[in-house]
Amino acid sequence: IRTLAQLEHAFDLSADEREATGRHTGSLPVGITPYYASLMVRDDPRDPLRRTHIPVGQEYLRTPGESDDPLGEDGHAAVPGLVHRYPDRVLFLATGFCSTYCRYCTRSRMVGEPGGEYSFSYSQWDKALAYIEAHPEIRDVLVSGGDPLTIADDKLDYLLGRLKAIDHVEFVRMGSKVPVVLPQRITRNLIRTLKKHSPLWLSIHFTHPSELSPEVTEACSRLADAGIPLGSQTVLLKGVNDSVDTLKSLFHGLLMRRVRPYYLYQCDPISGSAHFRTPVEKGLEIIRGLRGHTTGYAVPTFVVDAPGGGGKIPLLPDYVAGRDGDDLLLTNYEGRVYRYPDPDGTLGAALAQGRAA
Ligand SMILES: *Cc1c(COP(=O)(O)O)cnc(C)c1O
Repeated sequence: IRTLAQLEHAFDLSADEREATGRHTGSLPVGITPYYASLMVRDDPRDPLRRTHIPVGQEYLRTPGESDDPLGEDGHAAVPGLVHRYPDRVLFLATGFCSTYCRYCTRSRMVGEPGGEYSFSYSQWDKALAYIEAHPEIRDVLVSGGDPLTIADDKLDYLLGRLKAIDHVEFVRMGSKVPVVLPQRITRNLIRTLKKHSPLWLSIHFTHPSELSPEVTEACSRLADAGIPLGSQTVLLKGVNDSVDTLKSLFHGLLMRRVRPYYLYQCDPISGSAHFRTPVEKGLEIIRGLRGHTTGYAVPTFVVDAPGGGGKIPLLPDYVAGRDGDDLLLTNYEGRVYRYPDPDGTLGAALAQGRAA
C-alpha cells in the first residue's frame, strides 16, 4: 500500500492523515504490506500499529535537537553503506528498500528512494566487502538497511557467501522487520539459503503485542528451527508501546516464540519524530517494572544511541542506594534495601556522603 488512493481503500483516514500523506515527498515513502495493514484498525487513527506507519502532520514539525542523521552514520561511513563505529564490528547497509516504512525510522533520510544511493548495486557491495577483507579486526558483520530480507534469495546467498568466505569474519547477523510485516517471505527456500550460512543471527524489529499473529509465530518457528538464534529490537514509542503492561506482554510473547528481547531503544531524535519520543525516564521506568518482576530473559537492554555517533549507551535504573561503612546498600526490585559486604569498595560512597551533608 503505497499511495493515498490505496490507503483510502484500506482505512477510514482522518483529515490529518490524508493531508500528511498527500504532502509527502522524498525518502521514507508511505509503504505498508497488505498483511501488516490487516493487523491495523480500519477506523481508529489512534491504533498503535497504524500510528507507526501512516503519516500525520506532526511528522513535518522540526524540534530542537532533531536531525536527519542523528547517529552521524553518513559521517562515519568507511565506504558508502558501511558504518565502522565499533572496533571489531561493522554495520553493512545492504539495501535502502523496506517492505514497510516506519515513520520514526532512524534512516528515514535514505530509505525507500528508487535509484537512490542505497539502491541495490553489486559495485557498492564490492566496495564494502573489499573494506571488510582489508580489515582483519572486523569479526562481526551486521547486515541491515533498509531491510536485507527484502533482497532476493540468490543475491542474499551471494552476499552471505562472500562475507562467510572472509577468514576473520566469525559470524554474520541481520536486522529485519520482514518476519513481522511480511511473514510470508520466510519461505522454505529462504530458510535453506540462510541455513547454509550458519552461524547466522537475526534481530527482528518488533513493536507491539498485536504483531504476534499465527503467521508471525510460524515465521519465527521456521527461523528458530533452522538454528538461527533470534533476538528482538523494539523502539520505545509514545502512545504506541510505552507501558510496562504492553511491553511485558510483547516480551512474554516473544519468549514463547523463541525470540530473546535484545534491545529497547530510546527513539532517536530523527527529524519530525517528537510525537513518538518519550522522556528517557520512561524507558527506565519500564525496565524497573520488568526486572525482577518477570523472567530475566524477557528484559532487554535499554539503550540510547548517542547522537553524533557515540554508539549505543545502556541505561539502567539506579539500584545503588548508598554505602554504610563496609556495606554497600542495594535496592531490590521491590524497593527494599539490602546490605552487601564490600569492605574494599567505594561504590555508593558519594551518595552516602551527599546524604550526610
Ligand atoms: C547497533 C550497531 C552495531 C551493533 O551493536 P551491538 O551492540 O554489537 O549489537 C554495530 N555498528 C553500528 C554502527 C550500530 O549502530
